[in-house]
Amino acid sequence: MLVVMNNKATEEEVENVVRIIESKGYTARPIPGGQRTAICVLHNHGPVEGASLHALPGVKDVIPVTHPYKLVSRETQSTDTVIDVGGVLVGNGYLTVIAGPCAVESEEQALTIARQVKRAGASLFRGGAFKPRTSPYAFQGLGEDGLKILAKVREETGMPVVTEAMDHEVFDIVEAYADVVQIGARNMQNFSLLRRAGRSSRPILLKRGMAATIEEWLMAAEYVMEGGNSRVILCERGVRTFAHHSRNTLDLSAIPVVNKESHLPIIVDPSHAAGRRDQVIPLSRAAVAVGCQGLMVEVHHNPDAALSDGAQSLYPGQFEDLCRQIGPIFDTFRPLASALAV
Ligand code: PEP
Ligand code: MN
Repeated sequence: MLVVMNNKATEEEVENVVRIIESKGYTARPIPGGQRTAICVLHNHGPVEGASLHALPGVKDVIPVTHPYKLVSRETQSTDTVIDVGGVLVGNGYLTVIAGPCAVESEEQALTIARQVKRAGASLFRGGAFKPRTSPYAFQGLGEDGLKILAKVREETGMPVVTEAMDHEVFDIVEAYADVVQIGARNMQNFSLLRRAGRSSRPILLKRGMAATIEEWLMAAEYVMEGGNSRVILCERGVRTFAHHSRNTLDLSAIPVVNKESHLPIIVDPSHAAGRRDQVIPLSRAAVAVGCQGLMVEVHHNPDAALSDGAQSLYPGQFEDLCRQIGPIFDTFRPLASALAV
């Protein structure tokens, strides 16, 4: 249920509606908009009786929210969320490119790649310090040393950094260093981690689980927003299918669906979708054409020696080509993308 206030409603009228909703045992979450404030009713287990709310002073309309996700839904907020990450904007009207290695391996490696991707057009740097690896024998990341290297990258290049909090245990320390905290595909439904992310002061990059429906993914984002953190960036990174020609199957159809259902920005990770570098540039072009608001791409200056995901990492020269190619596509489809978003 959404209570839409009149555009001339006073603060007292908003507070009064909040008080009355809460007196019924529900949570009232005011959502200030450009024109008017809306108040989203949360934690109701059955239908909310709307007529009495409609009669309150300052109330324009009472609208049922038809989806199980409420705060992430366009029914609750029709305008696109734009997220400011250290001065870099992510969301409607922008195409934000995040690039860097799968894992931070050394200061020299991270700085070398960071300078290259920045020159090519990336505005955020990625690199894992805590790595979710299929094998316990594979490189697990440098841990806090990796986070310190990321801080150095930010200091030297000015690029904000994105890195994964793999579990509850490391969330605090990741949050202390990162500009954006990533929740990986394997953790998309780790509900205690999502709740912790909801209490974070950092934007959260929430990857889609490899077997998750769009509804499950949006419900995961709802956990973060319900916790009080409205800065969520969704990232489509491919889902598991029967295909063997790529590591995962990039679900391009998810982008227009999410743009329609949610006001949150959606970006695409073509690297983990493809698993092989020859598919990364074509998939990036397609992702931009279909209306995403950014890309997250793995790049390595020496992929053959990479400690993880070398096969899908672009050479810096290829990343430059990618950046050159996506700009005109974004410009061509920008009006279409925003039209789809409303
Ligand atoms: C990553 O981006 O480093 C990563 C591990 O990706 P995913 O969670 O999508 O597999
Ligand atoms: Mn990787």
